[in-house]
Amino acid sequence: MEIIFLGTGTSTGVPYIGCNCEVCTSTDPHDNRLRSSLLIREKEKTILIDCGPDFRQQMLTNHIRSLDSILLTHEHYDHVSGLDDVRAFQTVNIFAENRVAKIIQSNLHYSFAANKYPGVPDFKMHIIHEYEPFLADNIHCTPIRVMHANLPTLGFRVGKMAYLTDLKTLPEASIQLLQDLDLLILGTLRFKPHFSHLMVDEALSIVRLLAPKRTYFTHIGHDMGKHADVQKQLPDHVFLAYDGLTLETY
Ligand SMILES: [Zn+2]
Ligand SMILES: [Zn+2]
Repeated sequence: MEIIFLGTGTSTGVPYIGCNCEVCTSTDPHDNRLRSSLLIREKEKTILIDCGPDFRQQMLTNHIRSLDSILLTHEHYDHVSGLDDVRAFQTVNIFAENRVAKIIQSNLHYSFAANKYPGVPDFKMHIIHEYEPFLADNIHCTPIRVMHANLPTLGFRVGKMAYLTDLKTLPEASIQLLQDLDLLILGTLRFKPHFSHLMVDEALSIVRLLAPKRTYFTHIGHDMGKHADVQKQLPDHVFLAYDGLTLETY
């Protein structure tokens, strides 16, 4: 399967509005980060993980012309606020846990009304539960519980790839389901501690614990440092992702 990192930035994106730091003023395109989202292409289907405020730009930049399903990790706006723009596509399945589904159905009530206004996005909502595998367009996905400080959020395992963003800790039960990975994608904000996101040291402990073949960090803040400088400090097989990066995995 093919994956494309549509965005690799934290909730503010990089550059941060009004910031003059060396990352925000960098001319290296690797230092421009839209809000985090991942596209998966498998069996001629297109699945998106999260649909943030840069969704429209991400679809245009990457020439995405079809979309079948969206998996949602949690309800924070940097992960869901692009959903209205999904109106450009035919009926799209949303897979979310109950709490998140209720918030989406309330925020986009016009898309779930009995008599819909013409042109609104057309969604089919599917409720998923932690650790219970489901099929999204015939592709096997497993929701993995992670903790975003006190907020339970979901990561997803698809084949030998796992996408875990917006987490501070990994429950014991999740560790067992993250063995034998080819590719681990881990939300890692910066080097300094943060109350609800992993910092680099914490992310590297998870990498040592799970021992995936390769790891890419995403959901990166401007205070991580410049892409080229940070990459040199990471161990072998651990990389910073960047917008537009395309990988093959299985
Ligand atoms: Zn986020
Ligand atoms: Zn900055």
